[in-house]
Amino acid sequence: MSHMAAIEKKHATQTEDRAHEPVIDMHMHIVDFLQKTDGLSALLKQMDAANIDKSVIFGLPVKKKWESFEPHPPFYYLDDNAPCYYYGLTDEVVAEQYLALSKQDQKRFAPMICGFNPTDCLAIDHLEYIYNKYPIWKGVGELLLRHDDLTNLTMEEVARINHKALEPIFQFCIDRQLPLMIHQNVTSVGIHDHFEYLHELRHVLTGFPKLNLVWAHCGISRRIGGKDYFKVTDALLNEFSNLKVDIAWVVFDDVICDPDNNDLPKAEWVQLIEENPNRFMVGSDLCGHFDSLGKTIARYNKLFSMLSPTTVAAIAHGNAQQLWFDD
Ligand SMILES: [Zn+2]
Repeated sequence: MSHMAAIEKKHATQTEDRAHEPVIDMHMHIVDFLQKTDGLSALLKQMDAANIDKSVIFGLPVKKKWESFEPHPPFYYLDDNAPCYYYGLTDEVVAEQYLALSKQDQKRFAPMICGFNPTDCLAIDHLEYIYNKYPIWKGVGELLLRHDDLTNLTMEEVARINHKALEPIFQFCIDRQLPLMIHQNVTSVGIHDHFEYLHELRHVLTGFPKLNLVWAHCGISRRIGGKDYFKVTDALLNEFSNLKVDIAWVVFDDVICDPDNNDLPKAEWVQLIEENPNRFMVGSDLCGHFDSLGKTIARYNKLFSMLSPTTVAAIAHGNAQQLWFDD
């Protein structure tokens, strides 16, 4: 079964297609891995249907190539052996889509910049150029660092959060008070009894205490994990007040929810979120196509029903509102 078919099968078993609480979707790639999009007008329709009043939007910093040796064009980065390459035009797609909206609709989106090679010590040039070109940006990300198969398929130096090329990017974000969202696996696919790449994240959190860092999926990815993983998240949140996390994508289904208990969220994660209501956020992590938005966001209803009303309001809406939408 292809990855997309597996995702669709999962959605087919999901009956609800609307969030019980008003939500800000803080993790939305408006393009797919071929850099195509259904467009923000289509997204707005799905947001209305799903009870999502705002979204944090960005492109994808890489494009999947259709290689001459592959008989069919790919759709997803995992579809075949073809590599991915950095694609700066993704930020132009986001700007073009955003600027075509009415002023009223624009207020529902926070666009972010991501279209640079995070191992190029001149990446800051692209960021400054795009930031100054359009007066619309509310943050930087999602940067794809330490991303298992996607890193392997990207024909470049391995991207990692403690790369020298990112230091001017961190300073840029601090100077303008822009949040930075990163994907950085906590460890490799092969090692799960200790966390090989955690020190890279800790290095940056320690060195840049004023950086508003959002760690996508709490460092989890496909085939990435570890026993009692909530303890890693707990320890980091305790140690670094500048860190926030999202529970978008596979971390929710594979780590937070328990397959042996009707796929309900595990008690230790519910407690962790309840103890840190201002640090967690929810998102869809869709890429370019939005038909499954309602079902993707309605997955969180079972979590919402296990949390106090004030915590639900914070993780569903308030935290993202504060980070990306309040002036
Ligand atoms: Zn993402």
